[in-house]
Amino acid sequence: MTQLQERASATSTGAPASHAVPHWIGGRRVQGTSGRRGPVFNPATGEQAREVDFASIEEVDAAVAAARAAFPAWRSTSLSKRTEIMFRIRNLVDQHRHEIAAHLTAEHGKVPSDALGEVARGLENIEFSTGVAHLMKGSYSEQASTGVDVYMIRQPLGVVAGITPFNFPAMVPMWMFANAIACGNTFILKPSEKDPSASIYLAELLAEAGVPAGVFNVVNGDKVAVDRILEHPEIAAVSFVGSTPIAKYIYETGTKHGKRVQALGGAKNHMIVLPDADIDMAADAAVSAAYGSSGERCMAVATVVAVGGVGDTLVEAIKARLPKIVIGPGSDPESEMGPLVTKQHRDKVASYLDLAKIQGAKVVADGRQHPLYKDSDGFFLGVSLIDDVGPGMECYQDEIFGPVLTITRVDTYNDALELVNGNPYGNGTAIFTRDGGAARQYQFDVNVGMVGINVPIPVPVSYYSFGGWKGSLFGDLHMYGPEGIQFYTRGKVVTSRWPDPGTSKVDLGFPRTR
Ligand code: NAD
Repeated sequence: MTQLQERASATSTGAPASHAVPHWIGGRRVQGTSGRRGPVFNPATGEQAREVDFASIEEVDAAVAAARAAFPAWRSTSLSKRTEIMFRIRNLVDQHRHEIAAHLTAEHGKVPSDALGEVARGLENIEFSTGVAHLMKGSYSEQASTGVDVYMIRQPLGVVAGITPFNFPAMVPMWMFANAIACGNTFILKPSEKDPSASIYLAELLAEAGVPAGVFNVVNGDKVAVDRILEHPEIAAVSFVGSTPIAKYIYETGTKHGKRVQALGGAKNHMIVLPDADIDMAADAAVSAAYGSSGERCMAVATVVAVGGVGDTLVEAIKARLPKIVIGPGSDPESEMGPLVTKQHRDKVASYLDLAKIQGAKVVADGRQHPLYKDSDGFFLGVSLIDDVGPGMECYQDEIFGPVLTITRVDTYNDALELVNGNPYGNGTAIFTRDGGAARQYQFDVNVGMVGINVPIPVPVSYYSFGGWKGSLFGDLHMYGPEGIQFYTRGKVVTSRWPDPGTSKVDLGFPRTR
């Protein structure tokens, strides 16, 4: 067992409460001194596995001071050296993907196949960032005026911060820190307090890869830590991923304090199924994308919009697949879907089922019938399917964020489009059809940031950028990929000339190029 493996198993099997998940400041674990902590549960057993330290204002300030101190040397580190370190991080994350996944299963509850998928999609972003030498290239215009050259260079911003949600405790931090540090910034991560251990494990991997102390820091905590990040005068930019109300708050508060902010919010992703679609393909996709990760994905399909006469066949095909989904703890290799993250969240999700019935929808499958819902102390809920859902119902309007799929039936493509474009969220959407023209029209018409054509979860690869529209994103730049590089750098334009004896003269006019 390597040192890192030992540390991983020590943390994932549950440390005594006296060893709460600490912060990572200045290249080492720092146990919190605020006296405030939060519980971290094992969602599959319902037991509290450990606690996590909640940072005070002073502890956030200490992380900023460490990041500030590390910035001059890190930004001066050559591109080739930073590239080498990003490659080493890439290799260590790859080597330790099972240990990272174990943390995700232990605290989030996602099953190992899903957890390994999360690590793989995060790793893509580190791979992208190894191209930083190319990605940070500026531009050069020779002879803009006689003897004058103009060029643009990209420089890092300084200390930047990332605030992340519970549902991707490893991937979303990688969306942010890979490009941020590759570009020469120093970084402070505030992970979700529900599943914080993966961040500390990643911090250790980064240190082992040669990331200097202070370049990557983790402060665990709650609103106190977030608010200090938003107000701290030495933090130049904040990346956020989480629910829409908090994303809006982060954007408004961060920008008010002069920061660059990208804040990705919640979602309600629609999957349109046209009458000519391959029904088996559409049903497989709907089931995979609605119930994978217990529906706790911002790109989960939350609602299927059945167009024309396709509703009955499609609902039957989806329904037939539901009993085959194996629900259980991540410790069972057969499990395909795990528990929800907390009991409160599980109960909130389940509450939509009675509400839907009262509001006139038809509950085709009720997740509360699953034996694990009744018999286990874990936060399990079976899969639910609700048909005949209208746009006024709460199960349509709210982001449920659980294993509940709703079906809305409409007559035409235009009705479907109107529904999607009228929804306040605009993260992802998919259309299932065999008609290339209809798919192209949808891609043209729809007011959503990420579109899948016969692809239910169109999360862009790392060399494109990720971002929704409308209430799913506050800010101008999408996350990771080329827009991530733009977010974490700013352009500086230099206009230069060199002495040419005898040609200079006093000229009080505004400088012209001709
Ligand atoms: P959340 O908004 O509750 O929390 C996100 C982060 O904000 C956490 O670090 C949390 O500690 C902090 N936070 C929570 N309440 C706060 C407050 N009042 N003030 C300051 N900080 C606060 O989100 P969550 O429940 O952890 O994650 C699920 C949500 O994230 C869903 O809405 C999901 O759609 C969204 N999400 C979006 C994307 C995307 O890319 N658009 C990706 C993943 C998750």
